Amino acid sequence: MQFIDPHIHMLARTTDDYERMAAAGIVAVIEPAFWLGQPRTQVGSYIDYLSTLVGWERFRASQFGIRHYCTIGLNSKEANNEALAEQVMEILPRYLLKDGVVAVGEIGYDDQTEAEDRYYRAQLKLAGELDMLVMVHTPHRDKKAGTIRSMAVALEMGLQPHRVVIDHNNEETVRDVLDRGFWAAFTLYPNTKMGPERMVEIARQYGPERIFIDSSADWGISDPLAVPRTARLMLDRGIPAEHVEAICYHNALAAYSQSGQMRESDWLDAADVDRSASFQGNSVLRGQSSAAPMTAESNGSDWIFR
Ligand SMILES: [Zn+2]
Repeated sequence: MQFIDPHIHMLARTTDDYERMAAAGIVAVIEPAFWLGQPRTQVGSYIDYLSTLVGWERFRASQFGIRHYCTIGLNSKEANNEALAEQVMEILPRYLLKDGVVAVGEIGYDDQTEAEDRYYRAQLKLAGELDMLVMVHTPHRDKKAGTIRSMAVALEMGLQPHRVVIDHNNEETVRDVLDRGFWAAFTLYPNTKMGPERMVEIARQYGPERIFIDSSADWGISDPLAVPRTARLMLDRGIPAEHVEAICYHNALAAYSQSGQMRESDWLDAADVDRSASFQGNSVLRGQSSAAPMTAESNGSDWIFR
């Protein structure tokens, strides 16, 4: 089986993660622009961060046989720093038009403040003007109301539901999202919040239509193998294989390929990895010649899929 992780912050992850992900069958990832765990203090940090997402990180993933795409946006937490937010809004259009950018995101609400609402709306407007998809981060606090509000505002701003992915769903929000015609993504965390066990029951109850899963792995406690691990659990618990493939691969591809930036041929027709390749003069090698990519057997991931 092949997998897509349509929400993961690879900039915060290691080469070991890339090795394990590739060996477990992950062929493509989408990295949403996000905050850093502490506030940025100037727009220059944003410029370098966004440049890394469309540049070095994209190259780095390719060196492990994984296609890397990203979304570009001002996250909800930093929308509350209005001086910074104004400057970020000015630079967004030039990054949104780069190769491999599949959506405006992750945008939405955190504390549902007035400033968050203003910049969420401004970025939805931008998505409409540029004819782009949107990835919405729903709040962890007051989730149900925040999710319904996120969708209402997206509709109010003229977005079509099939062009918008609502992420971080749970049992309380999934019905509202599907009924309104949006894509429903689920972030699977290792110990808290939504986990693989709960996802199996959602897959059983709602089926595979417009549902997909991701890891949202970042610098916090998270699991970059959440997608293949949950696929394994779904199969073990009797979810039909075609449903598992839809939830762990086809639906994310269908949603984000609407951007015109992501095609299955990107990885099906990819050339073999050349570890001696470089990006602006830098490679992922550290002195060694050209280490061959690991296999599931050689790195211990073979329990996931043989
Ligand atoms: Zn995220």
